Amino acid sequence: MSEVTPGLEVQHEPASDGFTWEPYTSGRGAVLRVRDTSCCGVYDLASEGGQYLILRKDGKEGYEETARGVHANAVAAYIALVQKHLQTHKGASLSDTAGDSSPQ
Ligand SMILES: [Zn+2]
Repeated sequence: MSEVTPGLEVQHEPASDGFTWEPYTSGRGAVLRVRDTSCCGVYDLASEGGQYLILRKDGKEGYEETARGVHANAVAAYIALVQKHLQTHKGASLSDTAGDSSPQ
């Protein structure tokens, strides 16, 4: 159980998902509400002032947003992103999520 595979690195490829990510800045005078959080907490589907957007950590201290706009558009983008994320689990150990048995 101590095998290490060289070259198998966790990669963040922001340019490969087909979405344009921009730095998220709060303070637009609207309340940000997180509506859903993806597997592993990678993405958040949020609403802000009647608009919807997707947030992700920028790898530092802040967040990036994409697909800001109407609900249907943001949800479609969110689903696409989450599905891509789920593909990264294929062949990987799921033991880190074994304890999560949410009824939903
Ligand atoms: Zn995940």
